[in-house]
Amino acid sequence: MKCVTCKVNDAQFFPQFGYVACKDCRKKSKEITDRTFEFMPEHVKEERISHKEHTIQPFRDGQYSKEYHDLYGSSRVQVTEEEIKNAKNVWDRDLPGDFYKK
Ligand SMILES: [Zn+2]
Repeated sequence: MKCVTCKVNDAQFFPQFGYVACKDCRKKSKEITDRTFEFMPEHVKEERISHKEHTIQPFRDGQYSKEYHDLYGSSRVQVTEEEIKNAKNVWDRDLPGDFYKK
């Protein structure tokens, strides 16, 4: 089976989830996120980071936070692939309305 994103490389198979995008595509989407972030003016970036670091915790009642994961990824926390897959927006209600826009 081919990767659903690029349709070129072979998809990666994990017994617990089935097929996911190939390594290249997953790497690429991470690079895009990082690059997008760099376009922000430096002071805005720093404000956002400091604000978010005070607000977002990786877990709420044992539920891994999607907001946290979208911001930082899983490198700073101990989570399984399954917890990442099941990550949910758990802080929505406690955040200011303009805080987390997609
Ligand atoms: Zn791919």
